[in-house]
Amino acid sequence: MERSDSPHLFSASTLDVYTSGVWHASALLADRVKAVRQPYSGATVTELQEQVDAVDLDQPLGDTGAALHEVARLYLDNAVWFHEPTYVAHLNCPVALPALSAEVLISAVNSSVDTWDQSTAGTLIERRLIDWTAGRIGFGPGADGIFTSGGTQSNLQALLLAREEALSVHQDRSAIPRLRIFATTQSHFSVSKSAGILGMSADAVIGVATDHTGKMDAAALTVAIDDARRDGGIPMAVVATAGTTDLGRIDPVAEIAAICERQGIWLHVDAAYGCGLLVSTRRRHLLDGIERADSVTVDFHKSYFQPVSSSAIVVRRGETMRRIAVHADYLNPRTAALPNQVDKSLQTTRRFDALKLWMTLRTMGSDQIGDMFDAVVDRAHDVHTLITADPDFEAAAEPTLSTVLFRYRPGQLSVAECDELMPRLRQRLFYGGRAIVAGTTIGGHYWLKFTLLNPNTTMDNLRDVLDLIRGIGREMTGERDEAAAVMA
Ligand SMILES: *Cc1c(COP(=O)(O)O)cnc(C)c1O
Repeated sequence: MERSDSPHLFSASTLDVYTSGVWHASALLADRVKAVRQPYSGATVTELQEQVDAVDLDQPLGDTGAALHEVARLYLDNAVWFHEPTYVAHLNCPVALPALSAEVLISAVNSSVDTWDQSTAGTLIERRLIDWTAGRIGFGPGADGIFTSGGTQSNLQALLLAREEALSVHQDRSAIPRLRIFATTQSHFSVSKSAGILGMSADAVIGVATDHTGKMDAAALTVAIDDARRDGGIPMAVVATAGTTDLGRIDPVAEIAAICERQGIWLHVDAAYGCGLLVSTRRRHLLDGIERADSVTVDFHKSYFQPVSSSAIVVRRGETMRRIAVHADYLNPRTAALPNQVDKSLQTTRRFDALKLWMTLRTMGSDQIGDMFDAVVDRAHDVHTLITADPDFEAAAEPTLSTVLFRYRPGQLSVAECDELMPRLRQRLFYGGRAIVAGTTIGGHYWLKFTLLNPNTTMDNLRDVLDLIRGIGREMTGERDEAAAVMA
């Protein structure tokens, strides 16, 4: 039978074009990656801006191959490559191969996991993975959850549920300005951002003191809660971080859980980074107490080697999710008792990201993921030892997970000079392209940061990065001394 399908759309009659397009894209990618020797080309903003601006979007090239070649030049030639072992900057991981196969299916089938009639088995697969994750956390059979776009959205949803729970007790939405969240200054900025989105007051997030290592001080939490109550505040949630973004610290979850249970306060554990420990064969105990949380954020796109996006919020009592359900009859008639995920999500149309984790677990199994996460944590401890022994460098405290804070500070550099030099050094390293590290400010001082999420990064790679930093540091202090001599 003759059909006149569009030649531009995925269908049974364009499979040749489809397979050659996907093949062409992956071949081009392989070709580029084969030539990659460093995480970044070093191109400046101005250079890339010019190239992108030069494209006339109203003059199509007419074929995927030509468009791919243009994109290879505009994008691939200047992408930041997370699989390169000297990319050690942020919480980005090299991605698991089975997940990339899943991506091929996800985007072409284009299921939307909002209603049953747009996803069918996709919804069931997502639900199995939520159950699996809840099991790893240690939640009982009443648990529930949903895949989200990332830790930011997971945290927002968790705090929304906590807000609704608090308001259900107070029965009065005018109580919102009095609600308080307790978290340390090391918690993720999405906590404060969420408080703003949720209509809470500017001082709604109360900074709980940390001990000398950067973990929440449980005694200080009790005092902060009492103080807030005395001032007329209503404690809404405590956010414990399991793996802070900078120091990788894990707040004492069990102690905090005991306080929250006693006081009837929602406990959210932000394990966006530390969730890799759920599958660790050697360090799972670091998360002890997490099973007592009301909600948990997990970012599979950080420590499960998943492509962006892949995250989830998991709650211990599934019924708490129902408070946010809003009915749209066209999507979800009340009469149909079908498994509709839209009731539990802040999104409506939503990618079937769960398939990537499914494929990864079905291919590799969770122990392998846990071992890879353990390997980067081991590496962090080793490189911390290495830095501590090097007179040109100063290391911050011992790592807990896979971040290591340090700075280039040979004897002649004062702390103030070092604080001034480090951000510029980091910038120069970035535009050299050979290695990328992160930077952060703690207690008013600037530190460089290795975030290790690539098990392929060896100690030799890290020695090379330290030598690059040393070289740039010497160059920059030399320039400074010369400038000072000219001035004199
Ligand atoms: C990365 C991170 C987030 C935010 O997650 P996204 O996936 O980037 O939105 C939240 N909390 C912590 C502790 C994180 O490390």
